[in-house]
Amino acid sequence: MPDATVDFSARAANVFFHVLTRCNLRCRYCYINPAAHGRRRLPAERIERWLAVLAERSPGANLVLLGGEPTLHPDLPRVVRAARRLGYASVTIDTNGYLFHDILEALEPGEVDAFSFSLDGAAPETNDRLRGKGSWATCLEGIRKARARGFAASLIFTVSTANAGELDALGPLLEKLGVARLFLQVLGLRGRAAAAAPRGGAGLRLSPEQWRARVPAAAAAIAARGIRVVAPQVFLDPGEPFVCAGRTADNHFVFPNGRVYRCPLGADYPIHSLVFRQDRLEERPSLNERDLFALEIPEGCVMNRLVQPDTLRYTPEGTPAYRIGCCLIKKEIPPPAERGEGGTPWSR
Ligand code: SF4
Ligand code: SF4
Repeated sequence: MPDATVDFSARAANVFFHVLTRCNLRCRYCYINPAAHGRRRLPAERIERWLAVLAERSPGANLVLLGGEPTLHPDLPRVVRAARRLGYASVTIDTNGYLFHDILEALEPGEVDAFSFSLDGAAPETNDRLRGKGSWATCLEGIRKARARGFAASLIFTVSTANAGELDALGPLLEKLGVARLFLQVLGLRGRAAAAAPRGGAGLRLSPEQWRARVPAAAAAIAARGIRVVAPQVFLDPGEPFVCAGRTADNHFVFPNGRVYRCPLGADYPIHSLVFRQDRLEERPSLNERDLFALEIPEGCVMNRLVQPDTLRYTPEGTPAYRIGCCLIKKEIPPPAERGEGGTPWSR
């Protein structure tokens, strides 16, 4: 069952719109790359025109507004209202919790489907080591304020070797805060994570053994508390079909410099398949990401093979030890009450 605010299925239609790239934090894993994505804040008028183009192209898509920190954009409420008028199925604001420009007061709960808060540790010291001093307390305060004002809150948690040990503590914390959904993410080696010495952020990625041992069981335990958990599988089981959302889904990742990608993994490179020139959305000629989606390789995700080869391992015979699944196709564990008789915890 797709999530009500963003759909990570093979047939999804989502618009991930980066309204700016500026941020007040400097998180260790940040995937924003101003050299590739621009440094500008898009004017509200331009955002609205681009949203209109995308709404016509993908009617009824979910919209996720992000940055940088999107609440640094003073016209975000206007953008939300424009998206509503344009018929987006849902509108979510991804935030680090600092909630600038009194955004919770400037919007009504009926106008936003959810605020999605990023936190990378159940303990303050873990989160603050990764995201900056004081960011844990501020994020939790932001969640409390959003809930008190009647907004739905979800949480994005990027799983790494630095915080995987805290997944068990996350469930009780989210329950206490009234967070309805948890999005687990695998650490992407992009932006700052890719640049970090000595081997990029590869050392922070969980191995297949670590992921399988920690994440599914922890996710199921969190879901048992009544929280909807959405998580990528990352490592495909033997014989499991591989699906590339770039071929089947309708996702757009829009950056302020006009680049539009169908897959976020290549966003450090100028391989976007679409571009906004002024207010026209144009297809770019080959070669671009679209040509890569069509490739069949034994490692599974071709973009992963190209941009983060450190995540792969090979047998002595030279065949991949495992296949990497699509990071845009996630599994959802609904709360037990919604699973029904005989329902399995993991469902596509
Ligand atoms: S990860 Fe998000 S909150 Fe952190 S620096 Fe990047 S844009 Fe800002
Ligand atoms: S993450 Fe890999 S599998 Fe998914 S859309 Fe991108 S290239 Fe395709």
